Amino acid sequence: MGVYDDAEALAPELTALRRAIHREPEIGLHLPATQRKVLAALDGLPLEISLGTALSSVTAVLRGAGAAAGGPAVLLRGDMDALPVTERTGLDFSSQTEGVMHACGHDLHTAMLAGAARLLAARQRELPGTVVFMFQPGEEGHAGARHMISEGVLDAAGQRPVAAYALHVASAEWPAGVCSTRPGPMLAAAEVLEVTVRGRGGHGSEPHLAADPIPAACEMVTALQTLVTRRFDVFDPVVITVGSFHAGTTDNVIPDEASFLATVRSFTPEARDRVRASALALVGGIASAYGLTVSAGFRDGYPVTVNDDAETRFAARVAAGLLGEERCVAQPNPMTGAEDFSFVLEQVPGAYLMLGACPPGADPATAPNNHATDAVFDDSVLPTGAALYAELALQRLTG
Ligand SMILES: [Zn+2]
Ligand SMILES: [Zn+2]
Repeated sequence: MGVYDDAEALAPELTALRRAIHREPEIGLHLPATQRKVLAALDGLPLEISLGTALSSVTAVLRGAGAAAGGPAVLLRGDMDALPVTERTGLDFSSQTEGVMHACGHDLHTAMLAGAARLLAARQRELPGTVVFMFQPGEEGHAGARHMISEGVLDAAGQRPVAAYALHVASAEWPAGVCSTRPGPMLAAAEVLEVTVRGRGGHGSEPHLAADPIPAACEMVTALQTLVTRRFDVFDPVVITVGSFHAGTTDNVIPDEASFLATVRSFTPEARDRVRASALALVGGIASAYGLTVSAGFRDGYPVTVNDDAETRFAARVAAGLLGEERCVAQPNPMTGAEDFSFVLEQVPGAYLMLGACPPGADPATAPNNHATDAVFDDSVLPTGAALYAELALQRLTG
């Protein structure tokens, strides 16, 4: 039987695993209950398993028959963490933990990757190399991939992988089972700009005796939008959104400080460097023009997720072979979301692919999107994802 048929046969156990993880979601770098479920799912397979120390990761290495003869290694990554979201899907396997939900579908990635481990372990004799399964906590803002890299996941096979692949499901935008990717920038770099403007507080009736930080901070917010349109090529764009702004306590008191936070997104390393430098220069210049001081800086986020050209063409070919040409679409633009798989792709050529998981009956154009309280991901894509992971490794090692 082919990989796809074998994956279909795993559907009941993948669904059970996914639902168990969904019922008991965990946030951040420490996911002990999820880790236990993954280890149980991998139990009995011919894998070398190592666990993270700074995070509850699982790295599993499958050495194929051809590994001893010097065959290459390939890495497959699935993230495992949930979000601080209160679930309102009404599903019978809804989150049992108030305020925590698998709203980004990482529960599906975990089950798919465990399924791929099972599919590939059954083909150990045919495997001309090594597969590294990277079960990763902390994708949602905790840079779990970077932690796993510093704990050695890229050297787990005893050699650098020649390629790395990740899948991400989407509750909207694409119908279930449709795969989408693109070469080059796939997802944005995302960083947090933190700004605090300091002046001198005073009475609201006598602003000339104080140094009011609020108008200057407001000017920074609008000037940052002008920066986006006047200083950046429309074909190498940046996005700046001020999502938090705080100052003062009441109407007639001028506060000492005003502070705000912005998310800053870019799609090339050049634009990323430039937006960092120019945003800091801008807020510094505005503060000094008003005789105020400012402390501003970037909290390190995720770099641009860049798909390798050749690996993306290969992955798209594999996906089309598995799903049919009509279910494999070329993505015209990068997405403005960000991913810490970018840290892996900085060191290993590879590809990041989206996989539609919109439930039947829902319209992908209007279905609740990833991160929504009512985002629903369809279980029918679990065998598809497991088969796609497995085929990517199998064909890349064979090819
Ligand atoms: Zn997410
Ligand atoms: Zn995600």
